[in-house]
Amino acid sequence: MRHYSERMEAGLVSDAHSLLWFSLDLRLDDNPALHRALAEAKRGESAVIPVFIWAPEEEAPWQPGAASRWWLHQSLKALQAALEGHSSRLIIRRGPTAETLLALAAESGAKSIFWNRRYEPAMIAREGEVKRRLAERGIAAESCPGNLLFEPGTILNANGKPFQVFTAFWRACLAAATPAQPSAAPERIPAPATWPQSAAISELDLEPRIDWAGGLHETWKPGERSASAQLRAFLGSALESYSTDRDRPDYRGTSRLSPHLHFGEISVRRIWHELCGAHPAAEPYLRQIVWREFSNHLLFHYPQTPQEPLRPEFRAFPWRMDSGSFDAWTQGRTGYPLVDAGMRELWHTGWMHNRVRMVAASFLVKHLLIPWQAGAAWFWDTLVDADLANNTLGWQWSAGCGADAAPYFRIFNPELQRQRFDPDGDYVRRWIPELESDYPRPVVEHGFARKRALDALAAMRGQ
Ligand code: FAD
Repeated sequence: MRHYSERMEAGLVSDAHSLLWFSLDLRLDDNPALHRALAEAKRGESAVIPVFIWAPEEEAPWQPGAASRWWLHQSLKALQAALEGHSSRLIIRRGPTAETLLALAAESGAKSIFWNRRYEPAMIAREGEVKRRLAERGIAAESCPGNLLFEPGTILNANGKPFQVFTAFWRACLAAATPAQPSAAPERIPAPATWPQSAAISELDLEPRIDWAGGLHETWKPGERSASAQLRAFLGSALESYSTDRDRPDYRGTSRLSPHLHFGEISVRRIWHELCGAHPAAEPYLRQIVWREFSNHLLFHYPQTPQEPLRPEFRAFPWRMDSGSFDAWTQGRTGYPLVDAGMRELWHTGWMHNRVRMVAASFLVKHLLIPWQAGAAWFWDTLVDADLANNTLGWQWSAGCGADAAPYFRIFNPELQRQRFDPDGDYVRRWIPELESDYPRPVVEHGFARKRALDALAAMRGQ
């Protein structure tokens, strides 16, 4: 009997292939769905057909924003190249997803489909529908856990309820079963004798038509290879001082892995196992990684929270939508340098430092009393790391209406925040060259805004 790989090369493999459906988790390293598909292919002496299906309407109302679509375009190109390096391909199709998977299965004779699951409410519903439709046609469907360390629903308090306080969640994670060890990328992926037709990535029309993405191109290199280089660079330079430097937007003190993690270009289990116990300085960083778990678990248990405050009393908060102030905020013209520098960094690079995100978000919901949902929607469109779980948690935290949130009455003074976290002014000068000359006056005076926000809180409480 010839060895499997020889039989593959000789075209002797059967045609009961498996489809590997990529949604996020755009990587070959530690990809559980890929491993399951390979195991199945080996058992049946058949091939694996990787596929990506573009169906943004199925993610509504949170279809990928402009910056995410830009990233996705680049990331798909990187994945395609990586697959070609493994004698495979990436088949690109336009949705709807269930129909497209069924059509591909019929075209290729695939009898099983594997994918890594997602946890956003619309994606959970979609995957349920896909499983149902495939089962009707007798096609085996299996979703695998590839995006998180701990499955939502497995980390619960003593009463079997979700945690709402981060520190308790963190402790429960540490006490839970250690996440599985990551598995290496395979050397080869068995290919079918004939490939199904594929669209070109450019036909998906993901790249913006306006001349806006120049800063994104300058700042980022999407894809698995650069994600892992980014992790190496961070471990070699900034991890040691992460606990002290992570709050400084004027330093390169954080990992900037957030878009890579969102798109699953790097395995969170790989990060976990590389850092756990290996570096004494790793714990503060792993805590942030577990904030990502916390936000995903919260979204799973409270799927209404991208629109609704977790704390229901905030439904009665007297927000005021003022489009002039909102535009000033989006354009970085509020007259508060730290807020404006952050908003301009966001527009130019698709990313903003966490400390500045907190200050800019707080400014919108407290100084301007604009609903947090409007800010979340702007971030959703402009962040390359836009992530429904993390964005929802970040905005509800800032607005005081979420789990383990900053109390609403604690109102950041943006100027004091600037003095503390950008003491030499390097960060604000980088983004606001006109700071010393032609810079706008504050859209609202801090003392007045603070009192108005506290009055609004009192009105919500009926005082
Ligand atoms: P690092 O400090 O290097 O942290 C490593 C990783 O841990 C991050 O890549 C991220 O995956 C995770 N992480 C860090 N901080 C948080 C946090 N507070 N909550 C959840 N996960 C965290 N993060 C997103 O990934 N997508 C978003 O859409 C998003 N929106 C936000 C909105 C607001 C208003 C706020 C206040 C925060 C938001 N965050 C979001 C969280 C955080 O700002 C970013 O994850 C972080 O700045 C990314 O930079 P980094 O990769 O260098 O982080």
